[in-house]
Amino acid sequence: MRILVMSDIHANYTALEAVLKDAGQVDETWCLGDLVGYGPDPNAVVEEVQEIKNLTCLMGNHDIAIAGRMPLETFNGDARRSLMYHEQVLSASNMEFIKSLPSKPKVRGEATMVHGSPRDPLWEYILNANTASMNFDHFNTPWCFIGHSHIQSSFTLKVDTGRVIVEQNKPDVTLQLHPKLILNPGSVGQPRDRDPRAAYAIYDAQARTWTPKRVMYNISEVQQRIRAAGLPEKHATRIAEGW
Ligand code: ZN
Repeated sequence: MRILVMSDIHANYTALEAVLKDAGQVDETWCLGDLVGYGPDPNAVVEEVQEIKNLTCLMGNHDIAIAGRMPLETFNGDARRSLMYHEQVLSASNMEFIKSLPSKPKVRGEATMVHGSPRDPLWEYILNANTASMNFDHFNTPWCFIGHSHIQSSFTLKVDTGRVIVEQNKPDVTLQLHPKLILNPGSVGQPRDRDPRAAYAIYDAQARTWTPKRVMYNISEVQQRIRAAGLPEKHATRIAEGW
């Protein structure tokens, strides 16, 4: 069973298209949240995601804000400007889809899925060994898939010593999964690990493998749409540099 795992599309339709094409035929798609925020294409992204067959999609912190369940003041000025724009342009049916997304962790076989972290599914960033170590007791499956940090990475709990090993993963190097792990496929629409290529992962639930992937897309096209929509210049600059 070949599963596409992706997160943090952030209204970047061109990056999403590149990922879906690059991933090819999959049995299921798991999306870990944040369809909106930052980018120029909230409607196109939500419509495309709804078309995906055998989809499990979680709600992210930007999604819950646009759904009106979190004040936009929670976000910094530039992030807030994009959310206010998305609030204006999203169609009613796309807004309904976002509102219907689950914000609680989902369990599928050996994997738990969350947007942020197992103990704080919407807001906590897992970026280091310390935060990761405090989260391993908060899920009961052998591994947990997370998004939110936009960094393609793995956190391995060494069960004998209790130590956590943090790694930024190399694309196309397949990891054989052993309990316990926290895995982040990276961000489709706004990678923050200095590699501007769209990030995702392929999870094989039978073989118990995880393959991080990267794919280039037409970044300047997206930058043009960010500028045309009057969104913050920062959002255009950062997608070319991957931060
Ligand atoms: Zn995000």
